[in-house]
Amino acid sequence: MGLKIVMLGAPGAGKGTQAIRMAQEMGIPHISTGDIFRKNLREGTDLGKEVQKYLDSGALVPDQLTCDIVADRLVEEDCANGYILDGFPRSVPQAEMLTRFLKERGEAIDAAINIDVPDEEIVGRLSARRSDPETGAVYNLIFNPPPAEIAEKLIQREDDKPETVQTRLKTYHETTAPIIGFYEKLGVLKNIPGSNASPDEIYKRIMIILG
Ligand code: AMP
Repeated sequence: MGLKIVMLGAPGAGKGTQAIRMAQEMGIPHISTGDIFRKNLREGTDLGKEVQKYLDSGALVPDQLTCDIVADRLVEEDCANGYILDGFPRSVPQAEMLTRFLKERGEAIDAAINIDVPDEEIVGRLSARRSDPETGAVYNLIFNPPPAEIAEKLIQREDDKPETVQTRLKTYHETTAPIIGFYEKLGVLKNIPGSNASPDEIYKRIMIILG
């Protein structure tokens, strides 16, 4: 049975980068609620239309709607051997709903990996974050520079612009950070210092802590 892992940390802490690599190497799916919402926005689905105002302003999508989407995803066949949740849960009610959902199936989260990066560093990281609209690959102009030949086609996420970053950080501290304590109480919290270290170095730290 594979691991069920939750990635925690502020926006821009490096959760996505690590989650993608971990999922690849462990052969389990990477489930990012932000990616699911952005895909629906791009494709103009009903869900996309419903969540647009939240994503544009950097606010959280309502808990019940988010949890329903995750629940639908977790019952898919490829999740049977574990998965990496990235960007979910993002509030204590979401963490409670996830715990209940798993408990009903006799399951539980095995590890909650919290990548800890101070706010001052987060603001700099988000403004330097760029992504490849074709592959979805994420780079950072300072910490994880893209290959020169693709640099031109990279785009900045709308919600990585400075006005929205402040809102997202505030939401993170008020609503999301309390779930660190939630997973600590469950005995599965793993803290990873994420400051001033390359993605490779952070990945090594995660592998060591997962044993
Ligand atoms: P992310 O790519 O994880 O930074 O998510 C981008 C945006 O999607 C967030 O700013 C929220 O508006 C929304 N979102 C992603 N995950 C969640 C979640 N678990 N709960 C509520 N909103 C979410």
